[in-house]
Amino acid sequence: MDWINQKPDTFLERDFYQLLFENSMDAILLTKPDGRIFRANPAACQLFQMTEEEICQAGRTGLVDMSDPRLLPAVRERSETGKTRTELTYIRKDQSRFEAECASALFTDIVGETWSVMIIRDISSFKQIEQELRSAHQDASYFATYDDLTKVLNRRSFVEQLAQIMNHASSEGSQMTLILTDIDHFKRINDQYGHQFGDHVLIHFANELAANIRPGDFLGRYGGDEFIICLPDTNLKNGVQITERLRQLIEKSPVIADTQTIQLTASFGVTASIRYADEGTDLIISRVDKLLYQAKEMRNCVVFDLLSNDDATGQTDR
Ligand code: GH3
Ligand code: MG
Repeated sequence: MDWINQKPDTFLERDFYQLLFENSMDAILLTKPDGRIFRANPAACQLFQMTEEEICQAGRTGLVDMSDPRLLPAVRERSETGKTRTELTYIRKDQSRFEAECASALFTDIVGETWSVMIIRDISSFKQIEQELRSAHQDASYFATYDDLTKVLNRRSFVEQLAQIMNHASSEGSQMTLILTDIDHFKRINDQYGHQFGDHVLIHFANELAANIRPGDFLGRYGGDEFIICLPDTNLKNGVQITERLRQLIEKSPVIADTQTIQLTASFGVTASIRYADEGTDLIISRVDKLLYQAKEMRNCVVFDLLSNDDATGQTDR
């Protein structure tokens, strides 16, 4: 450190600090603990869009948003420990607000007067990036959970929720109904009216199903024109009635887009499971898939299995 000793005292005592003050990228304010401001560096002038004189006239109350709830704890911490670091909302000359990080410390000069120095760093660009990252993260988790087109749960999320419902301790031994449904002759709709109209039909179908199940029931797009519904705490008898109602509803609500109106029908497979029964999601889904396959032989119908007899199935009257 010999080179320090070779420099004249004034360099260390004054010029060096002056250089730091003038060239700092962060705003530096020399203040009194009561909020008066005595010096502001060029970075401060740039940050607040004011001259040094204007900053000194404004004082702390003119630069800091006094309603910021983080202000009082910071002032308290500084008077108790001698320093503080916090994020605060500041005000530019044009009254626009911005977020900045402030480090502030108290010190005493040679005549015993207490001063404070505030070093303020504009972090609004970091805040913006933080906000963008947060919303990108929210978007990513939204797309990982929901089907892009119909906005109902995607297959993976549906199966995850189904697994939870099947394992979850609810009213003991309560049954849960699972419905798998598929639009009839959907390929023809695509071929005849175009893929875009087909998309519109899928949205209509998903909306109709979603609007006619209870809160607590949940719906997912299983793939293509196949949708899957879980009715927790619903036995097979009630589940079949609900499904038949859904079938009729679909049949009676035409799809309208521009000048086109078409009548839609769908086929349904229905099964139920006793909670805690040692049955995984794969097994119950493959069972309801087989029932839907049977319903597809007739189309526009509901086929359900009879729990008491593994091989027996039933069909609702139309
Ligand atoms: P079925 O009565 O036997 O169900 O006959 P189907 O014509 O409906 O046959 P299937 O269910 O196998 O047809 C599904 C069609 O759905 C095939 C595929 O081109 C179409 N599809 C899958 N995803 C989309 C989509 O996102 N938008 C549109 N418009 N069509 C889709
Ligand atoms: Mg189909």
